Amino acid sequence: MSAQEERFGLFIDGKWEEPSGAARFSTRNPANGESLGSFVAATPADAARAIGAAARAFPGWKETPAPKRGEILLRVGQELKRRKEEVGRIVTREMGKVISEGRGDVQEAIDFIEYMAGEGRRLAGETIPSELHAKFCLTVRQPKGVVAAITPWNFPTAIPNWKIAAALISGNTVVFKPASATSRCAVEVVRTYEAAGLPPGVLNLVTGAGGVVGNALIEDPRVRAISFTGGVETGREVYVRGAKALKMVHLELGGKNPQIVMDDADLDLALEGILFGAFGTAGQRCTATSRLILHEKVYDEFLRRLNERLDRFTIGDPLDPAVDMGPVASADQEKKVLGYVAIGQAEGATLLRGGRKLTGGAYDRGYFIEPTIFATRHGTRISTEEIFGPILSVLRVGSYDEAVRVANDVSYGLSSSIYTRDVNRAFRAVQDLEAGITYINAPTIGAEVQLPFGGIKNTGNGGREAGSAAIEEFTEIKTVFVDFSGHLQKAQIDPR
Ligand code: NAP
Repeated sequence: MSAQEERFGLFIDGKWEEPSGAARFSTRNPANGESLGSFVAATPADAARAIGAAARAFPGWKETPAPKRGEILLRVGQELKRRKEEVGRIVTREMGKVISEGRGDVQEAIDFIEYMAGEGRRLAGETIPSELHAKFCLTVRQPKGVVAAITPWNFPTAIPNWKIAAALISGNTVVFKPASATSRCAVEVVRTYEAAGLPPGVLNLVTGAGGVVGNALIEDPRVRAISFTGGVETGREVYVRGAKALKMVHLELGGKNPQIVMDDADLDLALEGILFGAFGTAGQRCTATSRLILHEKVYDEFLRRLNERLDRFTIGDPLDPAVDMGPVASADQEKKVLGYVAIGQAEGATLLRGGRKLTGGAYDRGYFIEPTIFATRHGTRISTEEIFGPILSVLRVGSYDEAVRVANDVSYGLSSSIYTRDVNRAFRAVQDLEAGITYINAPTIGAEVQLPFGGIKNTGNGGREAGSAAIEEFTEIKTVFVDFSGHLQKAQIDPR
């Protein structure tokens, strides 16, 4: 830790605190190594205190009428709007996505918070007829209690807010454990809630290693639900631990998302789609396009155009608005991505372009990797495993049926896309593609907060975030029977 580093504490019970003698860690700009701050490496005891604060705050927050909770969320949204440029720049500096995407990350958070503020005037249940006379049946939504939100680094303001705002409007209290690599963004997220006047204990922040803090949150009996976004292997571990404690665990995991380009596609449109889908956020989106499935009739022409466009692609300081792609997020990411370049070469894929770490001048201070394209056959590791970096595998197919077979034959099922001008084929693809999300004539990325978000197969365990589906994640349904007949009525037994 350097002398000038800003120090940040844990946020527990409405106060920023620095446990005495706490170990610390720093986060760094992946473009140039600058420090974004020093953070507490929390212990299980710190996590337990945060859970205690959330548990104490729960009854009061649950009793707060949902529209009032919504008013506070609206103020959070306004505060984040006011700070959008500042926080967007912090996102870019800490995580490395280009500044337009840094702002976009914050905008997504704002949109979702505002959407959830409105949800405070809905939170709807159902009324359902009774089989008996003078009996009224309905359902109401109730909060689960203390919720743990465990989040990744690639959307360091949007994803935490997807969880926090939905959990809070539903009446839960939250302990937030962000990815260590984006702890500064997490501090900024929590500051917006603090500035909006959220009561103490309703939202708590515990920074520190997933294996320490995450496990403490999952295993504590006072935490009733875990909302996790991250990699498959971590997700599996979280699920198993949570299952042993019979907790609700919501998982949003990885992807290996295909963009299919058919022979009748608008190639220029498909080209814009693949450039944004594969190399936006340097390929580090769960919905990033990592497989380009090209019909053989357009294969050569499409790759020629793609190559031409990538010749003009700029890679550099993500704060520079003229730059197309920044660094990958960390040394670990760099190692992993370059490792996949070596795997691709070892398994006989043809490296069409890229594949190297950029060096010289400012590149030497960061983790910059060239946009990389491999031509490969379906079934190779690079065409089936999530890489989470700027590597695109290109697969040649001869028909729509083959394209769908290849698209579906992976363990993930998050996003998918097809470019075609044939409306019948487009609707068939909606039916046929095994994914939680399908785009027609648009790239695999581009979530909107009012629509459900999530995947099938190894991408998750069935839940959805965003939209009103998010409310289902964070509420229990209570079924209510009101008998106003004045005598005992027995369902299934009394004469009908
Ligand atoms: P990760 O390594 O799985 O980490 C995710 C979070 O889990 C971090 O906060 C991490 O803390 C924590 N963690 C690590 N070990 C843990 C444990 N044993 N128990 C509890 N928590 C633990 O994932 P990542 O590298 O941050 O993110 C990339 C992955 O997220 C990719 O696979 C991507 O596809 C996926 N993702 C999915 C979605 C979606 O909505 N489907 C969205 C975005 C990203 P530390 O940082 O301290 O290790």
